Amino acid sequence: MRSLVVATRNRGKLKEIEAFLSDIVERVVCANDFDGFSETIEDGETFESNALKKAREAMRHTGLPALADDSGLVVEALNGRPGVFSARFAGENADDADNNRRLLDELEGVPHDVRRAAFVCALAFVTPQGTERLFFGRVGGRILEEKRGSEGFGYDPLFLVDGFGRSMAELDVEEKNRISHRGQALQSFKEYLCSIENV
Ligand code: IMP
Repeated sequence: MRSLVVATRNRGKLKEIEAFLSDIVERVVCANDFDGFSETIEDGETFESNALKKAREAMRHTGLPALADDSGLVVEALNGRPGVFSARFAGENADDADNNRRLLDELEGVPHDVRRAAFVCALAFVTPQGTERLFFGRVGGRILEEKRGSEGFGYDPLFLVDGFGRSMAELDVEEKNRISHRGQALQSFKEYLCSIENV
């Protein structure tokens, strides 16, 4: 594929998506770098609906095939929160540090074995020709009592990956892409893209 626009302002996600697709997409561009592109309002109740909305708006604005990820953290002890509100858990203008602090506060006193959580990802691909496809990924783990590691972004330092004994922020971008929710969805997308480009 020649060019693909990615609908995200999150540079951490963009870095992971670029690393994953570098061998099959010649040019990955960010929707936010186009003049007049305004941020999609993420008012959907599901990751899928938000991902589709973001991809459709990026495709319409740029005229290019568009990919959008909507993802977040689902914590069992918080009945699935923060979920689709992961980016805004500590408030509208919250940054990663604020959100991590809020997560630790809400889980204060919750024992290690009931701090189960998962990162989930819905990835939407939309083309000017009318194709719309969704891909999914999910990785399980536990919320740590304190941050570990300096890679990645978001809740990575607080997420102990099942079967790894390391936090997501202790994995480099290639390792994270091999196992993460976004990596799984991107792998399905890559297989789909290869299958349609080879017909
Ligand atoms: P959105 O998909 O842009 O609405 O926001 C997703 C939010 O979920 C991010 O701002 C992070 O807080 C969190 N999140 C999603 N994926 C990851 C990840 O791979 N690591 C850590 N946090 C993530």
